Amino acid sequence: MNLDNLYQEVILDHYKHPQHKGLSEKFDAQVHHVNPSCGDEITLNVNLADSTISSLTWDGVGCSISQASVSIMSDLLIGKSLDEAQVIFDSFIELMQSKGALVADESILEDAVALAGVSKYPARIKCALLGWMAYKDASVQAQK
Ligand code: ZN
Repeated sequence: MNLDNLYQEVILDHYKHPQHKGLSEKFDAQVHHVNPSCGDEITLNVNLADSTISSLTWDGVGCSISQASVSIMSDLLIGKSLDEAQVIFDSFIELMQSKGALVADESILEDAVALAGVSKYPARIKCALLGWMAYKDASVQAQK
């Protein structure tokens, strides 16, 4: 099995078995982001406790890339401090902007490296980033 197939499998697994899907009743901030070019929608709730992401839940519809990406992200960010989450966020943005030229840092991005191939397809980058932009927006609002 080559790496692309393995990555496909990680994405499909998150798409079929989304992590942390289902919105929490309580939240410090809730945002709703859409990607009109593909029809993806994500609502995301975040709770912070002592500058740590104590809960991150979401609900959404859309393509496998958008839904898998937010599932992978929620797995990665829950329990992290805002500073740690920023490092992961920045690393993922850099990867998505790399046009396939960057080797993803698995020690930081874990399963999110499976989305590295998306950076070669400009039309799909917004799908992969939708959940991440929603997190960024929610985390800023939650700190106000
Ligand atoms: Zn999409």
